Amino acid sequence: MKYIVVLPAAGSGKRMKAGHNKLFLTLRGKPILIHTLDVFEQDLDCIGIWLAVKPEERVIIQEMLKQYNVTKVKGMPAGGAERQHSVYACVKEASNEAELILVHDAARPFIEPTVIKQLTQKAHETGAAIAGVKAKDTMKRVHNHIIEETVDREQLWIIQTPQAFHTSILTNAQHQADQDGFLGTDESMLVERLNIDVHVVESTYDNVKMTTQEDLLIGEAILQKRQQEEN
Ligand code: C5P
Repeated sequence: MKYIVVLPAAGSGKRMKAGHNKLFLTLRGKPILIHTLDVFEQDLDCIGIWLAVKPEERVIIQEMLKQYNVTKVKGMPAGGAERQHSVYACVKEASNEAELILVHDAARPFIEPTVIKQLTQKAHETGAAIAGVKAKDTMKRVHNHIIEETVDREQLWIIQTPQAFHTSILTNAQHQADQDGFLGTDESMLVERLNIDVHVVESTYDNVKMTTQEDLLIGEAILQKRQQEEN
């Protein structure tokens, strides 16, 4: 299933305390951003990549793309104040390019190609499909450090990206959210509020988002495990 992908990469990464864009930090000597881009560069079904960037980082990213031979990036619009705005900027540029669109955090370099395949297939059939994993821990709703409720874990999923949509569904949802001044924490929320069913495809626990320093250690361990599996 052919698709285009939007990668928001315009965050400040304050929680990483890197002093610059956390996506420039390296795992096994390669920037996190390039690890993520390589997944889509190698996927033959991916026919174009749009990257939301901070204007002041555009040149350094362009140089990185050249250095690592990333060829599928078709647009690099300026990101916005919030992740949702960054994604919207890309989708506005890219929406005529394919019927299927994926949104994926540039900070999640370990997404498995098999999950991308399942997501694009499901979104093609239904309109909207997002990646998630089942909650492993006991989950409670807590207010002011006091438990209000133990939530049935069987029904709880931890949601990740990629999130895949028919392009027309995502553009409608973004337009509506923009008009209503609604800010979500993922694109699915924008689609859900239009009462459209969003399907969840089971992903893997190693599709972690590189957020804090500890995640870098986890990232190195995942790469080591994958290398051992290859040998
Ligand atoms: O900060 P967090 O890791 O949750 O951000 C998820 C992704 O969204 C990152 O790849 C980050 O670069 C991107 N982002 C963005 N524009 C923002 C905030 C975050 O493109 N304003």
